[in-house]
Amino acid sequence: MREHNNKLIVIGLDGATWDLIKPWAEQRRLPTFKKLIENGVWGELESTIPPVTIPAWISFATGKNPGKLGCYDFLLPTKSLDDVKPITIKDIPSKTFYEILYENGKKCIIINLPGSYPPRIRETVITSFLTQGDNFIFPSELVNEIQEFKNYRLVPNRSLYVKGKIIDYVNDIREIERIRFECAKKLFKKEWDLFFLLFSGTDWIQHVMYDKLISGAMGDNMVPIKLYKEIDKYIGWFVDNAPSNVNILFMSDHGFKVYEKKFFVNGWLKREGYLKVEDRTKTRTPRHISEKETQRAISKRIKIKLPVFLLNYLKLLGWMHPLYMKLKKVIPLEVQMDVIQPKASETVAYALTHSGSNFVGIYIHDKKRFNDGNVELEDYENIRAEIIYKLKKLKDPKTGEKIVKKIWRKEELYFGDELGMAPDIIFKLSDEYHMGRLLVGEVFRDNMIISNHALHGIFLAYGQDIKKGVEVEGVTIYDLAPTILHIFGIPIPKDMDGRVLKEIFKEDSEYSDREVVYQEIDEKDRTRRKIRELRSLNRI
Ligand SMILES: [Zn+2]
Repeated sequence: MREHNNKLIVIGLDGATWDLIKPWAEQRRLPTFKKLIENGVWGELESTIPPVTIPAWISFATGKNPGKLGCYDFLLPTKSLDDVKPITIKDIPSKTFYEILYENGKKCIIINLPGSYPPRIRETVITSFLTQGDNFIFPSELVNEIQEFKNYRLVPNRSLYVKGKIIDYVNDIREIERIRFECAKKLFKKEWDLFFLLFSGTDWIQHVMYDKLISGAMGDNMVPIKLYKEIDKYIGWFVDNAPSNVNILFMSDHGFKVYEKKFFVNGWLKREGYLKVEDRTKTRTPRHISEKETQRAISKRIKIKLPVFLLNYLKLLGWMHPLYMKLKKVIPLEVQMDVIQPKASETVAYALTHSGSNFVGIYIHDKKRFNDGNVELEDYENIRAEIIYKLKKLKDPKTGEKIVKKIWRKEELYFGDELGMAPDIIFKLSDEYHMGRLLVGEVFRDNMIISNHALHGIFLAYGQDIKKGVEVEGVTIYDLAPTILHIFGIPIPKDMDGRVLKEIFKEDSEYSDREVVYQEIDEKDRTRRKIRELRSLNRI
């Protein structure tokens, strides 16, 4: 048996999909990936529903489904349909794999993991674009030690993209990733047991041009391709410089897809009479606000610190997003369009989160959860069944094809004691359809090009204990945390939903031989959780 020190590298590539990487690896455009696929284990990775940054990265870190985490989107409704708050790791009632490693005396370096702010461990943590505030380097002294941190940024300059300066925008992303790599290289030389690094550039660039990337028309000299080639080179550096007995896992939090049609769920709910709108329609002229401008406005006008991403991605979330409406009251943002607001007092059902994919969640405005709710507890199930029935029959007005492919009641998809604030109905649209949350006059729109998230991302493992050139199936985002703990020989909390991916290890490796050890959860804790779960389902 080989010598072990149970060290591990995990590299994330946000939004990476085999649809791009596989052919590019075969064409030797991405030589590191070619080598890793041929000499490692690879396969698709199924993300969370919805396949969005949050819950996906939180499920990655905890090995648990959103029903145990209480996060179903970036934003969480509180006591009213238009009262939402951005999720932070503080809201997550569950331990992450890196906290468990830390408690077991393992040294962790975590770079750019979404949902890692504020850090839960006293280790080296560079937080992600979801950081709320200015501090994202922990411990802060690292800035003095590693010069490159002075130029470290968490998000690209999105105003370049909005102004149509696409090449500049892509080059800005390349620069962010270059600096990230330079910093990561320095941190890599420090002492660690687990080294986690995420490249976000893949996601950012795919959001603006996945249709062009997947078309295969881009030559090697075009800047977007240069970004992928550079990331491939950066990854190659870690592969080459990792000690020979350290294994590496690669993963993405979701894949990508081009959608050609849009289903405006709130428009549909309005048409069906479940959603009422305010009488007043406010119309304003659209105007672009720069990141600087927004930041300045924020620093002047409000004390609370907001995640940078929310400001940069307001457009992505939809201008009339409830949080935006709220922000608008305190910040002088003048970006607007026709704004139709739901009339909470008469609304029965509403989709208040933007899933960025072909998954949709609908909230029933019940009196138990929402202060301004309209649905009596005894009517809840009937209304839910009625909406489900109508959705199942829903057809594309042009093709006549059914557009809802799968539909779940929340308890059929998620499980756990944090189910209470989940959308009551979740459904998957057919492949060409993207969800639209905006409340506009129409229900369907076609002839569109929307580059956005899809359910399947990538998984890849490489190293002395990993099989060579094997494709695996059935990997989910929940499997990473238990697999990581197994590699370190640390008992896995029994309430993690994922499994140890034993099939990736060579038959004679220690990880294949060693039994999977679970950590019992306290019986009292279990009962308490069960009660909360039933309560959240209105059963008691
Ligand atoms: Zn992502």
